[in-house]
Amino acid sequence: MDPSPPAFLRFEAVGKRYDDVHAVRDVSLDICSGEFVALVGASGSGKSTLLKCINRLVEPTSGRVLLDGEDVLAGPPAPLRRRIGYVFQGIGLFPHMSVAENIALTPRLEGERLPEARIAELLELVELDPAMATRLPAELSGGQRQRVGVARALAGDSHLLLMDEPFGALDPITRGQLGERVRRLHDDLGLTTVMVTHDMAEALLLATRVLVMDAGQIVADETPAALLAGAGGDIAQALVDVPRAQARQLARTSEGIGE
Ligand code: ADP
Ligand code: MG
Repeated sequence: MDPSPPAFLRFEAVGKRYDDVHAVRDVSLDICSGEFVALVGASGSGKSTLLKCINRLVEPTSGRVLLDGEDVLAGPPAPLRRRIGYVFQGIGLFPHMSVAENIALTPRLEGERLPEARIAELLELVELDPAMATRLPAELSGGQRQRVGVARALAGDSHLLLMDEPFGALDPITRGQLGERVRRLHDDLGLTTVMVTHDMAEALLLATRVLVMDAGQIVADETPAALLAGAGGDIAQALVDVPRAQARQLARTSEGIGE
């Protein structure tokens, strides 16, 4: 029999220690091509550290991460990062560079010039006017800036998109719109996406699979439907209870208004 193909992304007993802080402990899991995975958990649970083990912003102290069957530490970091789109926590644009320069940055670090037409195409993908290419980040709204952050992450033709609390700094309406846009891009471009968020509602609405992290470990690995049906254990359910209670309260309020 043929051996089964390697997972698109595989974590093998990945651990990361900072002196006596165990940021990530013994994480093993496979992510298939096309999945939209949300990594949810309290602040300090190790989400960002685990995400950064994929694009080598962090090197594990034990275990390894395989992309397409190959250890991410095997080659030089630049071509690896070219294949992996990364949307930073917060905004993460360079303030002294134009929108176009920010988007073209990763390819430029590898000596490649991104054509103007490609920059316009990337801006259209995130529903921004290509005329914004010459603006500075300070001349954009928070939502527009994070759209540029997503365009930059897609500039390298990557099939793997990593996002660290991408919408955390945005107002709820902008946040919802941009989340939906990213989910559509994920579907249309055939991406595999890993999104870190502390917001379970966002995870349930956007992801196909939700991983819950606590104290460096994955404590639940469920679909949104399974989580909503009560699966995943106490820590996961405590997180699901937040949007569930809000939904109940909203329903009661609207009944009150209807009376
Ligand atoms: P999260 O993204 O879930 O908020 P992090 O992955 O940023 O969590 O952090 C997990 C733990 O590792 C925390 O206790 C944090 O203080 C610690 N940590 C993260 N990065 C470093 C670092 N560069 N040096 C020392 N400790 C760190
Ligand atoms: Mg974090």
